[in-house]
Amino acid sequence: MNILIVEDEPSMVELLRYNLESEGFQVSSASDGEEAMLSIQEQTPDMVLLDWMLPKLSGIEICRRIRRDQDFRNLPVIMITARAEETDRVRGLDVGADDYVSKPFSPAELMARIRAVLRRHNPNLGQDTITVADVTIDLVAYKVSRAGRDVHLGPTEFKLLKFFMERAGRVLTREQLLDGVWGQGVYVEDRTVDVHIRRLRKALNEAGDIDLIRTVRAVGYCFEKS
Ligand code: CA
Repeated sequence: MNILIVEDEPSMVELLRYNLESEGFQVSSASDGEEAMLSIQEQTPDMVLLDWMLPKLSGIEICRRIRRDQDFRNLPVIMITARAEETDRVRGLDVGADDYVSKPFSPAELMARIRAVLRRHNPNLGQDTITVADVTIDLVAYKVSRAGRDVHLGPTEFKLLKFFMERAGRVLTREQLLDGVWGQGVYVEDRTVDVHIRRLRKALNEAGDIDLIRTVRAVGYCFEKS
């Protein structure tokens, strides 16, 4: 799981990074809104921790932009603010943040909220069997079926499908797919992803089936929920 921290205060970034990394999260950071939007487009994180007070674009504006974007509207966002007034809280939730934490907060509280939001967004995570649309993957028995018929996949296509189904409805970049399926730091050419996507599509799709793997031009792929 990759978490993007959007915060302009270096000491706060370090504190968050330390706590998130100790919990096993991968962490990236952006110090202003423009950098944040670029980072989200280049490597969509699994969650954004978004500070309210930022130079250039405010946290609220960033949250609005994320929610307006067809490809990123489902991205989990937790807003962090120094202002604890109730009205701010309401505004924070109005712009579509999933949760809200005010400074100062305890790391334990923040981690609990992060886990709760991630669970809500990815109820499939940690399950033995995942079903999205008419596709079911059994992660224990290593079996895949579509509309009741068995689908036979090679080990890489299986991992790729698992990675997709755990993140159904989200746009994933080739880089994310490479990191998630082949492992970080492993050198694989970008087009390798395309080759395995082609094999996965061929195995999943029979005549008349809709293609659940949507190609997002210049970005990557999305496994559609329907
Ligand atoms: Ca700030």
